[in-house]
Formats: sequence, C-alpha cells, structure tokens
Amino acid sequence: MNIAVIGCGYVGLVSGVCLAALGHHVIAIDVDEARVKSLREGIVPIYEPGLSEMIRAEVANGRLKFGTDLEKAVHASETVFVAVGTPPAKDGGADLSMLFTACEQVGVLADEPKTLVIKSTVPPGTGLRVAKLLGKAKHHIEIVNNPEFLREGTAIQDFMQPDRIVFGANSQKGIGVLREIYQPLIDKGFAIFSMSRESAELTKFAANAMLALRISFINELSQLAQNVGADIESVRIGIGADSRIGPSFLKAGVGYGGSCFPKDVAALVYQMKCIGIEPLLLSGIEAVNWRQKITYAKRILAALDKVDTPHVALWGLAFKSDTDDVRESPAFEIAKALVENGVTVSAYDPQAIETARKVLGTKVKFCRTLEEATRGADAVALVTDWPEFISQDYKKIAALMRGKHIFDGRNCLASGKVTAAGLFYHAVGRPELKPGEGRQGSIGVVNAG
Ligand code: NAD
Repeated sequence: MNIAVIGCGYVGLVSGVCLAALGHHVIAIDVDEARVKSLREGIVPIYEPGLSEMIRAEVANGRLKFGTDLEKAVHASETVFVAVGTPPAKDGGADLSMLFTACEQVGVLADEPKTLVIKSTVPPGTGLRVAKLLGKAKHHIEIVNNPEFLREGTAIQDFMQPDRIVFGANSQKGIGVLREIYQPLIDKGFAIFSMSRESAELTKFAANAMLALRISFINELSQLAQNVGADIESVRIGIGADSRIGPSFLKAGVGYGGSCFPKDVAALVYQMKCIGIEPLLLSGIEAVNWRQKITYAKRILAALDKVDTPHVALWGLAFKSDTDDVRESPAFEIAKALVENGVTVSAYDPQAIETARKVLGTKVKFCRTLEEATRGADAVALVTDWPEFISQDYKKIAALMRGKHIFDGRNCLASGKVTAAGLFYHAVGRPELKPGEGRQGSIGVVNAG
C-alpha cells in the first residue's frame, strides 16, 4: 500500500520505517525542513537503537522517502498516518492543535477518498472531533485510530514484535484497511484487537495510566519502606512473583518521566474533571510522582548539609536509558532543586547532553565524560539507568570524588561493590549502607526440594 506518515519524530520515524519493512511504500513528511534535510542526507535526528541502519536499508530499497510536501504525499497515498505531537496544554489537557491542523490539511488536499490513521495519542472522542472537522471535505475521509505502544529504546522491536495491535474503527471498511496494512504481522500470529475508535483511544491512555500507577504505587511504598527498615526490592520480588501482579513496572526510583506518562495521565485527569468525574486515583499518581523526585533531592541535600561548597555529579539526563529524549525527565526537577539550594551540578549523559542543554541552559555544567562530571564531587546522583553507570569500577569513582555518597535513584547498582569502594550507598526505599557494609538477608529463592 502507498502510505504517507505525517510527523518524523520518534513515533513517525519508527512507524514509517517499520511500515516500509512490512512491504509498503512510505513517504514520511515533516514541517521541520532541517529535520527532513538531515534525514535525506542519511542523518537520523534522534537516538534510537537500530533506527539509522533500518532507515538506510529502506531508503536504499526505495520503499521509504522523506519530504516536506504534504500535498504530494497525500496524492501519492491511499492511507495517511498522523504521528504529530500532542503535548500538554497549559490547563493539563492534550494540546491537539498540531493534530487538528494536520488532519484538516489532509481533508483539504485529498483528491479521492482516503483513510486517515490517527497514530498520535489522543483523548477519547478525538476521532469524532476530527470526523466533524473533515465533514465538509470534498472526498470521504475514513478516520481510524491505531494507538502506538512502542517504548523508546526498544521501539523497533516493539513495533515489529508487538504484544498486541489495536484497531479502532467505527466501520468494517476502516478495520479492513488496518488489516491490510498489518497483514504481515497478522500472518506471524501477533494479536489484533479490533474495537470502536473511542475504545482504542481510551485503551492507549489506560495503558499509560496503568503503568504510571504501578510506578507511583511502588514509589509511595518505597517511602514507607525507607522509614521502617524494609527493603522495597525484596517487596517488589515478593509481590511480583504473584501471577496476578507480575514483576514489571514495579521498580522504585526517582519517579517516571518522558513524553508520554506525565502528559497522558494529566490529560486523563483534565478530561475527567471536564466531564465532572473527580479523578481521585489518577490525581494521586501525579502527586506521588512529584513527591518522589523532590524527596530524592532532599535526601541528597541532607547528606551534604555540612559541606561548604557542595558539588553533585548528576549521572543521567535522559528520562530513561537508551534514548536521548529528555522530555519531563526527572533529572530536571532534581537538578533544579539542587541548584536552587546552592549546589554546583556537573552533569553527564551518554546521549542526551545536547537535548538537555536546550532545557537547562547554563544552570548546570555539562561534561563530556563521566569522569569529568564526577571529579571533585561530594555525591553522585544517578537518575538514569544507563549500562555505562552500572558497569563502573567504583574504586576508580571513589578516587575521583571529594565526598563519599552515591545516590542510586534507579536501584540499579550492585550495592556491595559501591560500599566495598569505601562509599556510602543510598538507594530508594532500601536501608542505607555505610562503607564496607553488605546488605543483610540477600534476595534469593529457597528451593523447597
Ligand atoms: P515528536 O515531537 O518527536 O514528533 C512529532 C513530529 O511531528 C515533529 O518532528 C514535528 O515537527 C512534526 N509535525 C508537527 N506538526 C506537523 C505537521 N502539520 N506536518 C508535518 N509534521 C508535523 O513526537 P513523538 O514522540 O513522535 O510523539 C508523537 C505522538 O505519538 C504523540 O501523540 C505521542 O504521545 C505519541 N506516542 C509517543 C511515544 C514515544 O515514546 N515518543 C510512544 C507512543 C505514542
């Protein structure tokens, strides 16, 4: 099928290249001319493992093209995917202006009936609003919803080997077009769930809210664990082994961030309030997440209370590892709280320095290596679980530092290696360890046989 993809961001690029890999002819377009120019030159503007190589291959075999001319793209395609941003508006709701503009343009430019696939994450009811917007278009535009569940860092695998694909359409025709597009994945046995457009829209929001809820749940309990001497990691394993609960998205840390969870939970809260339903649980998810970031910063400040000119090495700026995406990254709130309290912050991230610089400016010192950021620091604050941080030689780290505190905001370090290097180990929701101390009652499985 000939497909146009509007938006060459994380979702548009990954969807575009994967649709090409499924055998379709794809033209991906963006309003950002510099972005398109660099894509045409073979330079991929975002960091996503495997993406550059795949784009190169699909461009070379002629199935993937990039452009800025929407009219040309719409005329050349039977189906148009919309993957533009739906960022948070000031009132907390989703700002749908980019989406509406793109959809409206498709309606105006369509030279024959088309299918419009909304890939962007949108509040329930958005498809209906778009349908009304396009009601006067010269040709019929079938509007369907096909939410994207990819995770940055594993985006290609998530698209090509999905847990499920959701088709949201209010007509058999719409479902038929989506089936045709995804037939190669259907043939491989991946699960397809067809439902109404509104249900598909809500399914995406519900999935993100559920994942954010689990993170906030364990984070709230981590604060209790910290105070009563329990170890939240043991608790996580203890509850995660229950097949009704499962272990994923139950890791305590500095709170969630990224371009999806914060804005999607906020948009749900906003929509429910507009309708007149008090979002008691959903509001709690946000409040817990906020407190988690601030509590982490406060613990660092307390440990450095007596230091004259405190200096913290911030390890990680991306909201998670394997991406350069810093949108709503917990690192920002933490850096801000530290700087406002007189701490000098030197930051390092393997991929996200340039994207973070646009947000933090000169508030923190950006370093090109982990060693440079750590030299002379009184404490290390790890906020992103990059493998590079986990595999460090902590004796070397201790030798670089002025102080002795390691704050593991992701509970990802081997505590014994940290304390054996003469350092204090501060995790989230776990007992604090002094230099030389090991963790009592190490986690293990007792074999009943
Ligand atoms: P992004 O900001 O990285 O990319 C959006 C792109 O759309 C930008 O390059 C922008 O220039 C372009 N654009 C905006 N208006 C345009 C127009 N009229 N014509 C052509 N291009 C236009 O956003 P993203 O992270 O890819 O997210 C896109 C959508 O997918 C959002 O709704 C998001 O919530 C959702 N989503 C994101 C992820 C993720 O992990 N990033 C995962 C699932 C769903």
